Amino acid sequence: MSFFSSIKTFFIRNTYRIEGYRLRSYFNISNNKIDAIFSKTKFRKIIFKIFFRTIYFFKYILNLKPNIHSIDFNLTTRCNLNCKDCASLMPYYKAENQWTIDIETFKKDLDNLLLYTNKIYRLKLIGGEPLLVKGIEEMLDYACSKKKIISIIITTNTSIIPSDKLCKTLKKYNKKALVELSDYSNSIKISKCTEIEKKLKENDIYYFISNYEWFECGKIYKRNRTQAELIQIYKNCFQSPCLSLFDGKIYNCTKAAAINRLTNFKFDEQEIIDIRDIKIRRNALKKFYSRNFYSFCTFCTSSQKRVERGIQTKERFNIT
Ligand code: SF4
Ligand code: SF4
Repeated sequence: MSFFSSIKTFFIRNTYRIEGYRLRSYFNISNNKIDAIFSKTKFRKIIFKIFFRTIYFFKYILNLKPNIHSIDFNLTTRCNLNCKDCASLMPYYKAENQWTIDIETFKKDLDNLLLYTNKIYRLKLIGGEPLLVKGIEEMLDYACSKKKIISIIITTNTSIIPSDKLCKTLKKYNKKALVELSDYSNSIKISKCTEIEKKLKENDIYYFISNYEWFECGKIYKRNRTQAELIQIYKNCFQSPCLSLFDGKIYNCTKAAAINRLTNFKFDEQEIIDIRDIKIRRNALKKFYSRNFYSFCTFCTSSQKRVERGIQTKERFNIT
């Protein structure tokens, strides 16, 4: 890839997303007064963008650590649902592949992750179902204590009411920590969304109900795509803005993390960042964001078919 295409990809995948994130209203009000001032009018936004992009251009040239706009920190593969189109491929995990992080590993991985970056604008604690994880309160408390992390979201499938202990921690950091309620009440009977909302409101905890569209997961198998095809599928994929941290490794998305874990296929080492590697690779994240394709994408369907959220299956699937 030429220098110009690398920097263009880096800006599309990283810089513009951070910029957009900083100019969003919820974020500004609760976290950053300067961003709040700049986001008020169109003119101020233009000024902000000129400064911001110039600074990021020089940061890129000087090989300074990039910030992260959003990353999914996977805590477990255990889930009490089995959604057919799960973007983290939970129906592919069998009993012998299940994995859950412990508190000490969580803290070490988070510390390592922060060595790669100056700021994380949004850290999402996800699963599986994160509320099944023992010690999630302590993990949240630890993450919230980090100044480099601007906001933290726990994403739950609304089947479990958050404990009083967790609510206490969420309330303690109520400008920084919030809950995403993925409401699948159209598809499942165990949704407790209304009760959870009530409890969060009573405790003055920020939350939102997510209703974004889901896309068909399709069959996961190796398709032997060319590089040009991989570039195209990655560009069009709804998961391409994601970044996923799973068991000490950064992937381009949660599906890639599952594919690497559940298969014996060998991927290029530049497609995965091992944050437990003791050598801190200053350039690793920059190179990662400058890539415009990942060979994981050879496993995915190119279908853009929309599907209902949270449809359940009784089956366990295999990657072939
Ligand atoms: S609730 Fe559904 S979408 Fe969420 S992790 Fe579990 S199986 Fe996947
Ligand atoms: S592996 Fe590639 S195509 Fe599949 S979900 Fe992730 S980004 Fe999209």
